[in-house]
Amino acid sequence: MEYLHGGFSERGAVRAPPVFSVLVSMQDLELRYTWIRDPGNALRDEDVVGKTDEDLLGPKDAELLAAIKRDVLATGRPQRLEVWLTFRGARRWFDLGVHPERNASGSIVGILCTAVDITGQKRSAQVLRQRAQRLALLYEAAAGLLATSDPMRFLEQLFVRLSALFELDVYAHYAVSSDGSHLRLAASGGLGASQRQAMARLEFGQPPCGAVAATRRSIILSDSTSADDPVASAIRSLGLRAYVCHPLIAGGELFGTLAFGSSTETEHTQESVGLFRAVSDLVALAIARRRAEQSLRDADRRKDLFLATLAHELRNPLAPLRSGIDLLQAATHDPETIAITLAVMERQVMQLTRLVDDLLEVSRITQGRLELRKCRVELAAIVESALEQTRALFDEAGHELTIDVPQETIELDADPVRLAQVLVNLLSNAAKYTPAGGHVRLSAEPSEAAIALTVSDDGLGIPAAKLERIFEMFERVDGSLERNTKGLGLGLTLVKSLVEMHGGTVEAHSEGLGRGSSFTIKVPTVPRESRVTASSREAGAIAAKVADAERSLPDAARRRRVLIVDDNVDAANMLGRLITLLGHEICVALDGARALEAMPTFLPDIVLLDIGMPGMNGYDVARRIRERGPVQPVLVALTGWGQAKDKQRAAEAGFDHYLVKPVERTALQKLLDDGSPARR
Ligand code: ADP
Repeated sequence: MEYLHGGFSERGAVRAPPVFSVLVSMQDLELRYTWIRDPGNALRDEDVVGKTDEDLLGPKDAELLAAIKRDVLATGRPQRLEVWLTFRGARRWFDLGVHPERNASGSIVGILCTAVDITGQKRSAQVLRQRAQRLALLYEAAAGLLATSDPMRFLEQLFVRLSALFELDVYAHYAVSSDGSHLRLAASGGLGASQRQAMARLEFGQPPCGAVAATRRSIILSDSTSADDPVASAIRSLGLRAYVCHPLIAGGELFGTLAFGSSTETEHTQESVGLFRAVSDLVALAIARRRAEQSLRDADRRKDLFLATLAHELRNPLAPLRSGIDLLQAATHDPETIAITLAVMERQVMQLTRLVDDLLEVSRITQGRLELRKCRVELAAIVESALEQTRALFDEAGHELTIDVPQETIELDADPVRLAQVLVNLLSNAAKYTPAGGHVRLSAEPSEAAIALTVSDDGLGIPAAKLERIFEMFERVDGSLERNTKGLGLGLTLVKSLVEMHGGTVEAHSEGLGRGSSFTIKVPTVPRESRVTASSREAGAIAAKVADAERSLPDAARRRRVLIVDDNVDAANMLGRLITLLGHEICVALDGARALEAMPTFLPDIVLLDIGMPGMNGYDVARRIRERGPVQPVLVALTGWGQAKDKQRAAEAGFDHYLVKPVERTALQKLLDDGSPARR
């Protein structure tokens, strides 16, 4: 509902009865009226004849007219001018003409006056002038509000100008509170300290501004609005007679309200209401723009902090790796030192790999290139995988980890690797942000069509103000490099994106710093009736056993000839060493041409082909190999990227498998175990 009480009128219009529009009169040498003609009949002879201007007008007006007329009598020169006179209580503009009246011998015997009421024209000119002033003000307001870095300060200055043009006494700007629960008085003018205090907070729906915010509709009140109207009485209690309040909306978002009130004006004209609306729209735009700038600045600040953290985090594992290399060089004959050093180095490389993986994942997500590989999967398998990956963290910190997941089979249509990654991130955070010897719990609560998984801890906790931003990229609670170097602030961003890609939600709770945290993800589950049957699960288990049995075949029967093609000498040699250690035979080629050369003599079972090589790339080499003889090696692509379209391209070029670098030992082992020459 829009309140539109009372009609509009042109501001300052006078509603007194018309005096006359045209008057012709004659006066003698004493300036006494001798004759009049008023076609409108507002004045008759008996009202005027025999009287002077002094009898008819106020002393100032009479004096002014007498001076003009005496001058005409004295000089004989006619005069024409505009005068502003009050006649019968109405103040009006007249176009006045005064001519000398002569007798037959040419002597002046009196004057002839014509008076035409030009108040209407005068007023339209004034209205036009005012309109021009208001338009100029609007233009300045637009330019100023869009350029200012402080819209509230600008509004304050604008109000001074507006109040002069519109006789305003009060303005009040309410802003939606940061949590969106209420409105707070953000800027005002013309209100006393106690009024400001009383008006400081407003609930949505509370008249007048709260109602405007709740309905997003303007309220316009005039002096004639009924006193029973609750909104009007609230306004009158502030001593205001004319009042308008507009919602501040930009880009569909409500930022608050802006109200203007006058204690002298009885109503705002349609034009001024329109102008206030335009000013309100500009203020909303200015606020929206400032918010956008602020969030850009925040993102930029977080990115700077992130880069500093990243550098720090990437350096951390490098120091032990450097020392590890030195140690290995010095202690080649001490198996214990070698074993310990290798274990340390492996951990550090894993840490580095994890950091780089996170970075790559986030960049894939932000570019919309991350794809889920969904399948029917049991929750238990996902939980188990996540626990396997994080158990060491809990052991190291001496945390007690409690798992409370129901026995019943719960199936999801999900990407098991990604969902496990979500749990790994939440569990790792719980382990990281809980002081040693803490308690962490993973619980699951199934409902009709979803499962809620909660990871809670009794660790550092998260301050309320940070809770809602914790899922933003690069966001970390203390924000300082020195105190918290445990992560890049990407883990929760990944969690949120991955959960949402599964059609789920994630929420964080914490009672505050030092009071522990809990993160709950909710993802859809497969309805009971469409679950996989027990027999098909058993079939899967039997297949797994057969595969296990196959893996225990004697080494000699499964020794492979592996051709490694990579332009990075270190990478090729290290991989070669590892494969040799695992009991297979290798040949290294540092480019495509040499690989093709080696093919007919070495006759590999498996070719590990780097994709990105100068000259002939991995795809070209693969195609050339496929063009040759009927007995073909297993072709495995090695690359830093594991996108579906890259894989597709690899498959088209003739690759059988695809491994993402750095190649994990278990994946390599599996390949060497399974890989036998392909028949084509
Ligand atoms: P990272 O751990 O790499 O900094 P995350 O995105 O995983 O990044 O987490 C963002 C921030 O949220 C962390 O830096 C930490 O301040 C806070 N946080 C996450 N999980 C917890 C938790 N369980 N307890 C306390 N703080 C947490």
